[in-house]
Parts: sequence; structure tokens; C-alpha cells
Amino acid sequence: MKEALERLDALMNKLVEADQTGAGIEPLRVAGELGAIRHLLAESPTVIPAKGGRKHFRCESCGTVVHGDAPPARCPTCGARKFFAADIEQPFVESGAG
Ligand SMILES: [Zn+2]
Repeated sequence: MKEALERLDALMNKLVEADQTGAGIEPLRVAGELGAIRHLLAESPTVIPAKGGRKHFRCESCGTVVHGDAPPARCPTCGARKFFAADIEQPFVESGAG
């Protein structure tokens, strides 16, 4: 998620710069970068799992998060069939210091 947001910020800055300097920017490069960012967002885990709770799955197409023991057959929002695990494996990194 963090990397995706950083790349999105960088891309926005590039677009503004291209506009201000009149240098222009290749549409295909922008499209390619957006596609990479979209993929990062779709597959990045962002849900902190509840203790003893069920897992969360994010729809690859529309981003809907569904909870359950396993991914649903179809997304309740858009009907897509592909899901990414949305739970963060280790939400808290314990400090070894002390
Ligand atoms: Zn969906």
C-alpha cells in the first residue's frame, strides 16, 4: 500500500511537472505506471485481522473486502472471481530492544 501511494504521488508530480514545463509525457508510460500501481493496490494487504476472527479477501476488480474463512465464489458487488488476501500478517512489529 505504501509503495503504491508513493508511486502515485511520484506520477502526479511528473504530470504536473510535464504540464508546467511543457515537456509533455508519454501517455503509454503513464498508463503502464498506473497499471502497476493498480496491481499493487489490489494485492496489498491492508486489513488488521481481529483476534480469532475470520479472514478478509479483497476483490481484484472493484476492491470490495469480504470476510470469511475462504474467499467467496463471486464478489457480491461486481461478480468477479479473483480475490487477494487482505489481512496483514503481522500488524505489529515487536521491538527487540529493552
Ligand atoms: Zn468486486
